[in-house]
Amino acid sequence: MTEPSMSALAPRLGAPALPVAEVGACAVHRDRNAAATCTRCGSFACEECLFVSTQGLETCRACAYGGLDEPVPLERRRSLGWWKATRATIRLAMLQPSRFFRTPPAERGFGVPLLFATGLYTFGQICQVAWVMLGMGALWWVAASASEAAIRSDQAALVSGLFVGYSLAAVLCTLVQAPVYGLLGAVLAGALTHGTLRLLGRARAPLERTLRAVCYANAPLVLGVVPLLGGLVGWFWMLGLEVIGVRETHRTSTGTALIAVMGYRLVFCLGVVGLYGVLVALAFAAKSAGP
Ligand SMILES: [Zn+2]
Ligand SMILES: [Zn+2]
Repeated sequence: MTEPSMSALAPRLGAPALPVAEVGACAVHRDRNAAATCTRCGSFACEECLFVSTQGLETCRACAYGGLDEPVPLERRRSLGWWKATRATIRLAMLQPSRFFRTPPAERGFGVPLLFATGLYTFGQICQVAWVMLGMGALWWVAASASEAAIRSDQAALVSGLFVGYSLAAVLCTLVQAPVYGLLGAVLAGALTHGTLRLLGRARAPLERTLRAVCYANAPLVLGVVPLLGGLVGWFWMLGLEVIGVRETHRTSTGTALIAVMGYRLVFCLGVVGLYGVLVALAFAAKSAGP
């Protein structure tokens, strides 16, 4: 008859050993035992008062105030499924960015956000290439059918065949290249943004949180599916989300976030322009010094 008492003890023994002082009553519900200590504010929270209950990431509802009502959909993909979680994440990041980026993470690391960023970048790029190819194809078709000199059907078939082949090759190349660029781009953007924040002394969250924000900011690249201006609009929208993401993640001002997001991009552009300037100056100098 010792077994029931053992099984009653089991959950306590299996739970992570909390110092006795940490096991107290919920800060809100004084009559309930705390399930965990909030990793942000350090207050005790019962099961109901916990927004995130992942071990090591426990966050109370008070600290999640102003964010989404539930963790980011992609971090709930086990219950939602990948497809639904991805769609909901894109929608919420684009339309409710402040709430989205204020939501505490329910997962460690940035593997899934990185996969999200890479996937969206690749999707956007393939859409853009496909639109350019379709546009060129349409132009060729219009030009061919409007031309006075009748194009022989065998010539038309040859050109069409070559064009379709070239288009497929372009899409295939994008399919191979875009994931690499997308992945490296997101990591580089996250690292440079975080580095800038560190230089400014405004980094209040670890690097992996900056990477998470920068990765989720890729959501608007889905607009690549819209012909003509979709890709461009998506790119500017992404910059806006990066600024909001950095601001909410590090609880900093919009100005500081703007410097962190645009600073290194500006330096890079000026560097390229400067390099061209130096090359042009050298060319002129060589010409005037010549015989
Ligand atoms: Zn808290
Ligand atoms: Zn409570």
